[in-house]
Amino acid sequence: MGETIFSKIIRKEIPADIVFEDDTVMAFRDIAPQTPVHFLIIPKKDIPTVNDITEEDAQTMGHMFVVASKLAKEHGVDESGYRLTVNCNRDGRQEVFHVHMHLLGGRLMGRMG
Ligand code: 5GP
Repeated sequence: MGETIFSKIIRKEIPADIVFEDDTVMAFRDIAPQTPVHFLIIPKKDIPTVNDITEEDAQTMGHMFVVASKLAKEHGVDESGYRLTVNCNRDGRQEVFHVHMHLLGGRLMGRMG
């Protein structure tokens, strides 16, 4: 599997503002936040895109949603609402090829498109 900047964040070789970590998942603040609350929730396993997710990753993927829910509550956007986005490949505008879920909140967002 390919190395990305997120692999280095997982190994703590480069700094990140980490808001959650356990054995399988990490979450940290996006370096260029698009909303007042903008976290990236990632599996520790190097998985380049959603296309590479297999059945054996299902538990970790589900856990990422549990972490998202927990972070939304902790950071006070659970009631106002938020968006969870996973970009894939060119048309999805994926830039970092390590699967990640954006948690975006803290302001009213536009429609998808
Ligand atoms: P994508 O377009 O791949 O879904 O989003 C990648 C996200 O990673 C972008 O929102 C970008 O700002 C963020 N990002 C890229 N490099 C770094 C980094 O080194 N540290 C952090 N915290 N975020 C990064």
